[in-house]
Amino acid sequence: MSMFPLLAQEFMHLYGPGDSEVQLFFAPGRANLIGEHIDYNGGLVMPAAVTLGIGDACRPRSDHLVRLRSSDDPLVVQIDLDRPIEPDPARGWGNYPAGVLRELLLQGVNLMGADVLFTTTLPQGAGLSSSAAMEVLTAFSFLALAGAPTNDLKAIALLCQKVENQFVGVNCGIMDQFAVALGRENCALLLDCESLDYHYVPVALGAHALVIMNTSSQRQLAGSKYNERRAECDAVLRLLGTDAPRNGLVHAQWSDVLSHVSDPVLRRRARHVISEQARVEQACRVLAAGDLAAFGRLLTESHASLRDDYEVTGLHLDAIVCAALQAPGCLGARMTGAGFGGCAIALVEQDEIPAFTASVRSAYLAATGLEPAFYVTHAANGVHETTGEG
Ligand code: ADP
Ligand code: MG
Repeated sequence: MSMFPLLAQEFMHLYGPGDSEVQLFFAPGRANLIGEHIDYNGGLVMPAAVTLGIGDACRPRSDHLVRLRSSDDPLVVQIDLDRPIEPDPARGWGNYPAGVLRELLLQGVNLMGADVLFTTTLPQGAGLSSSAAMEVLTAFSFLALAGAPTNDLKAIALLCQKVENQFVGVNCGIMDQFAVALGRENCALLLDCESLDYHYVPVALGAHALVIMNTSSQRQLAGSKYNERRAECDAVLRLLGTDAPRNGLVHAQWSDVLSHVSDPVLRRRARHVISEQARVEQACRVLAAGDLAAFGRLLTESHASLRDDYEVTGLHLDAIVCAALQAPGCLGARMTGAGFGGCAIALVEQDEIPAFTASVRSAYLAATGLEPAFYVTHAANGVHETTGEG
């Protein structure tokens, strides 16, 4: 059911009546289908926007005050657009929208004040990019309220990545903001993270669905290990010397890695990057041919590589993927996102979904003591304005 009737009601309850119309916007989360830990290595990734996401109700004000609330958090955030906007730990989640407002002002957008209420169906901190959804939603909503063009979604994605890197302080690649901004119904995005060229790959799931499986385990160590992996990839490039490709580790030759890199850990890291890139290319081919069984096998191979070579899965993601692969109707499964907790995805026969989730739940609970959550989804559209119906 749509989140918007309740959101509009709550908006009125919190902010009261006003002179202008309330406008509604929605930004999805994303699941990376394949191509993990590839964006910062300059390669091809294949994310899709999903049906879960963040919605907001916004109403312009006649002054330069921005008031932000979230139905999932009691914090009230106020931003005066006439004063400098700096990161502030006391602002909590409000730093994501605050950073976006700051960037829009720096780009010369003539912003007006607004009252805003966010609500969500997206688990936070679970690897489905609720942070990128928040950023892209804020940018799109405030551009629309200001009567500025919203059609340059690539520019919006880049602005939001800059906010996450510089204002929030998370050194992420471009994939998440790109997928949230540019997702398309029943398609994955094939995005070249080096050139930012992209095209849409139809994902015809037929009698299958994408099931997101939340391990309910926080992504511990994710930040520090993420930086460690980035540093390891840089170390491989340095060791490759004159044989290092200029545009990222995905372009390295395995034979060059074998001749220049003796450290077994660094070799494994490079093997993941190179093999994962090959899997993305294969995934395009098998999806075009409608071969979902082959696509499922690539998902499972990707997980094995992330577990054994890149070492970013951990107990919970391994347990839920293992449970999924033994459950009825599953064609393949893998972790999605940065790893170390958060979510995994599985490709599952629609008719088997109840049996699948029951089986995964009991095996995962027995292995970890945690209750998983499941979301049945498909590839969906990126950020947009909505009437709230449907
Ligand atoms: P992920 O992007 O994987 O969900 P992050 O840690 O990058 O995880 O972003 C999660 C943060 O985004 C939350 O801690 C919160 O600050 C913010 N956030 C996301 N969705 C909402 C929401 N609906 N309301 C308030 N804050 C949100
Ligand atoms: Mg995030």
